[in-house]
Amino acid sequence: MDNNVATPAVTEAAAQSSTVATKQDVLRQLVAPGGGDGSIFTQLLNNPFFTAGFGLAGLGAALRYGSLGLRRAAGLVRHRMLVDLEITRHDESYNWVLNWMTAHYRSQLTAAAPQRRTGALESLIRRFTPGLHHLQIKTSTVKTASGGEQTAYSLVPGHGKHILRYKNAFIAVNRERVGKSFDSAGKPFEIVKLTTLYHYRHIFEDLFREAHEMARQDTEGKTVVYTSRNMGWDPSGQPKRRRPFDSVVLEEGLSDRILGDVREFMDARTWYLDRGIPYRRGYLLYGPPGTGKTSFVQALAGVLDFNIAMLSLSQRGLTDDLLNQLLLNVPARSIVLLEDADAAFSNRRQLEEDGYSGANVTYSGLLNALDGVASAEERIIFMTTNHIDRLDDALIRPGRVDMTVQLGNATEWQMASLWDRFYADQDANGAGRRRFLERATNAGLVGNVSTAALQGLFLYNKGDVEGAIEMVEQLSQTRAGQ
Ligand code: ADP
Repeated sequence: MDNNVATPAVTEAAAQSSTVATKQDVLRQLVAPGGGDGSIFTQLLNNPFFTAGFGLAGLGAALRYGSLGLRRAAGLVRHRMLVDLEITRHDESYNWVLNWMTAHYRSQLTAAAPQRRTGALESLIRRFTPGLHHLQIKTSTVKTASGGEQTAYSLVPGHGKHILRYKNAFIAVNRERVGKSFDSAGKPFEIVKLTTLYHYRHIFEDLFREAHEMARQDTEGKTVVYTSRNMGWDPSGQPKRRRPFDSVVLEEGLSDRILGDVREFMDARTWYLDRGIPYRRGYLLYGPPGTGKTSFVQALAGVLDFNIAMLSLSQRGLTDDLLNQLLLNVPARSIVLLEDADAAFSNRRQLEEDGYSGANVTYSGLLNALDGVASAEERIIFMTTNHIDRLDDALIRPGRVDMTVQLGNATEWQMASLWDRFYADQDANGAGRRRFLERATNAGLVGNVSTAALQGLFLYNKGDVEGAIEMVEQLSQTRAGQ
C-alpha cells in the first residue's frame, strides 16, 4: 500500500528532477561560457539566417530609437536655438515682407554679379547658394484717368521654402497656404514663416524696419488706387505719382472751395463724434464727360495725402451686397470714388443703351450702402455722373451727398489757365493766349468744348504756340453732341 502510495510520489519527484535537469541543461547550453559546440546560442549564432535576421532587427530598432532621438534632439535644438516669426496674409506687413525679400535677393545678385566668366565650380556653388528659387508673378491692371488701362508686373517669392542670407544670418522662409479655406475677399489663407537662429533674433526687427521703410518710400508722394477684386479692395497697379492739385483746372475758385470743404470736414472729427453723427461726407460731381471729374478726385487725393478706392456703379457683377461690403471695408485713408452713380437709378433698357451691361446695383442698394457707412475714421465719398437728371432727390441728403458741384465745359477762364499751364515758357507775355482766346470765342467754342478736348489739342501741339492757335477751330468737331 505504502509502496503503492510511495511509487507515484517517487515517480513525480523523479519526473520533476528530470524536468529541472532538462531546463538546467538548456540554460547551461544557452549560456555555456566559451560556447561549446553543443550550445544553442552558439548554434544560433552560427546560423547565418538567424544572425542576418537578428542583425536586421537590431539595426531597425537602433535606427528607430536613433531617429526618435534625433527628432527629439532636433526638436530641442529648434526649441532652444531657433526662433520663428509668422506673418499672416491679412497683416499689412505681409506684402512688405514679400517685396522686401525680392528686393533683397535682387540686391544680393547685383552685388555678386560676375564681372568675368564663371567656372563650372563657381556656377555650381552659385546654384546652391541661398536665394529665391521660385518666384511668382503679380499682375495688376489700373484704369487711367483717360479711361485706358495700364498693366504692371512685379515678382514676389512663390509658395514653398526659400533661404535668405541677411546680415550674416541665414533665414529660412516658408510661404504656404493654410488649409483650403478662403477669406471673405476670396483670397486663400496664407502665412509666411521666417526662421533663424535664436542668436540672430534681433535681425527680424531690422528686416521689418527695412521692409516698412521700403513700402513707405514706394508710396511716398504717390497715390494708391484700389479697385474691387474678389469681393474686396486690391491695389491696382503700382502707386502712381501724385497728380498736382492745380493740374486740373476747374472754374475759377471751385477747386479751392471743394478742398476747403473737405479740410473743414477732416478737422471736425470730434464735433461729429460728440454729436453721434456719422463721420462721413459725400460729394457729387456732375457734368459732361471729359470735364475733369475723375481727375479732380485724383488731384484732391494727392494734395490730402489720401489714396483712392475707385468703383464704377456700372461695373459688371457689382451687386447691392457687394457694394455694401466694399463700402464697409474701405482701405484706411482713402477717398471713395463711385463713378457712374446714375447706373443705380437707370432702368435696364437705359443701362443697355449706355453700354452699362451687367450692372445691377439698385437705387435702394446704393442708399443703404451709403447710409451703412459709419466709422470713427473719416469717410469721404465722391460720386460722379454724366446724367444728373437721372438721379433721385433722395440721394441729395446730408450724409449721402452734402455738396453738389457742376463741372462744365471749358469757360474762357479755364481756357486761359490751361493755356498758361502748357505755354507759360513759350508765351511769357500772353500774346499767343489772347489770339487763341479770340479765335476760340469767334468760333463759338467757349463753354462748348470739354477741358479734355482742350488738353488734347495742347498736348498735340506741345511747345508749339502757333500750331495750337492754327488748330483751334478744329475743336468745334469735339463739341458735345457732334
Ligand atoms: P471725366 O471724369 O469728367 O469724364 P476725366 O477726369 O476722366 O474726365 O478727364 C479725361 C482727361 O481729360 C484726363 O486726361 C484729364 O487730365 C483731362 N481733363 C479733363 N478735364 C480737365 C480739367 N478740368 N483740367 C485738366 N485736365 C482735364
